[in-house]
Amino acid sequence: FLNGSRRLHLLNKNAYINGQWVSAGSKAVFPVINPADDKVITEVPDMEAADAKAAVDAASSAFKTWKDTTAKERSYILRKWYDMCAKNTDHLAQIITAESGKPLAESKGEIVYGNSFLEWFADTARHINGEVIPSPWPNKTIMLTRQPLGVVSVITPWNFPFAMITRKVGALMAAGCTCVIKPAEDTPLTALAAAQLAEEAGVPKGVINVVTSSRKNAPAIGKVLCEDPNVGCISFTGSTHVGKILYGMASKGIKRVSLELGGNAPFIVFPSADIEHAAEHAMLAKFRNNGQACVGANRFLIHKDVFDTFVQAFKKRIAKGCIMGPGTKEGVTCGPLINTEQAKKVTGLVDDALSKGAKALIGGKPAVEIGSKFYESTILTDVKPEMKIYAEEIFGPVAVCHKFETEQEVVAIANSTRSGLGSYVFTKDLGQAFRMSRQLDFGMVAINDGILSAAEPAFGGIKESGIGREGSKHGVEEYTDIKYTLFSAL
Ligand code: ADP
Repeated sequence: FLNGSRRLHLLNKNAYINGQWVSAGSKAVFPVINPADDKVITEVPDMEAADAKAAVDAASSAFKTWKDTTAKERSYILRKWYDMCAKNTDHLAQIITAESGKPLAESKGEIVYGNSFLEWFADTARHINGEVIPSPWPNKTIMLTRQPLGVVSVITPWNFPFAMITRKVGALMAAGCTCVIKPAEDTPLTALAAAQLAEEAGVPKGVINVVTSSRKNAPAIGKVLCEDPNVGCISFTGSTHVGKILYGMASKGIKRVSLELGGNAPFIVFPSADIEHAAEHAMLAKFRNNGQACVGANRFLIHKDVFDTFVQAFKKRIAKGCIMGPGTKEGVTCGPLINTEQAKKVTGLVDDALSKGAKALIGGKPAVEIGSKFYESTILTDVKPEMKIYAEEIFGPVAVCHKFETEQEVVAIANSTRSGLGSYVFTKDLGQAFRMSRQLDFGMVAINDGILSAAEPAFGGIKESGIGREGSKHGVEEYTDIKYTLFSAL
């Protein structure tokens, strides 16, 4: 129930394996909590290793026929799934808001964004072309084709519970693969709703399976999803810590991995930048999903000549634009943090910084009067390397602003991290823009913009932020192997 009264459509309490909605039966369930009011929305099966194995078997058996469908058929089904999701935007958005806490407008935005991957991969499905290459030998032909990898294990986080699924599943289905999805324990309901719409769109049984589990059972399920011989690829979005565990398990079977892990995005403002524009985009880069995004700006690096102007402009926008409350309430722009651990983590990082001399220009404490998981939108200055918040990915509504003096210095600071996902640069100097694009050790660089995600570009990181790319034509390649066939003596 939402707001205690309106029913949630597309609410499923069962997992989905081989086209069957599987109840917990006599086995355990776990609660899905609305972080805005701490109430239980519903309970779903707390599945175990054997259920994951059954799902892999179902996906493996479905692969035998799905891989031989034509690109046109797969494109058609993906397009129908897209249509179903578009038609059900409001229902899906209500589920996302109920279990993740994000404001309804943002949840609808996530459906539009997430659904754009289904639309995109419906198109790209028909362009997974091979190559015929001139041979070095007479009377022989070299042919390269792209083969689907098989069953893909899809393990997803809670911050974009719809989009993180569609951008993987759209791509892998287009390539001819099938999958087992293990959604995050905080947000399994969006995954189940998406699976229901896939079923209604005609996705054959076994092509998509959803195994729900609590955090307690995730490692056992993760082991099956990484080590079962029928799994060809592990596609994961989440923390670098868990990514490393999965990568380790995948290595035993030399499985393909696609990993989208944590970021530590710098947001750099040079003196030539349009400061009002930069402050506007700082809001987007920091406060979208209340700071809980892996591409979210984590370190604001501002040139000393424009530091005060930028910080004041940013503060003004936060004071006006960050309205806390339950995501279902009209006008709210900042929901709760996802769970108690995240709320504790953000509080701990800020308290540590404040106790060591950092200053909060705005915010700086939990907003317990609204709910147990709400935290004030915050700007911190005077942050020093000895404070924990200096180097950590915050994943909350806290903007840490540092001063720098030279381009060389800011590049060194920006690159001084093991992460390398998103980065943002504000400058009107074209030469500087190109230099930054070259010199920043990040998979993605946005010049004069705070938002860079879409289906068309290649999303992904370098260093410990991951392996592989999602979206673009490369997103499909993640789920294929190149097969080389030599034709000779014919
Ligand atoms: P976050 O910090 O965003 O919660 P996590 O990396 O902890 O990110 O979680 C992302 C996903 O990984 C979730 O679906 C979670 O259940 C899953 N997960 C966590 N630990 C494991 C594990 N050992 N094996 C498989 N999945 C796991």
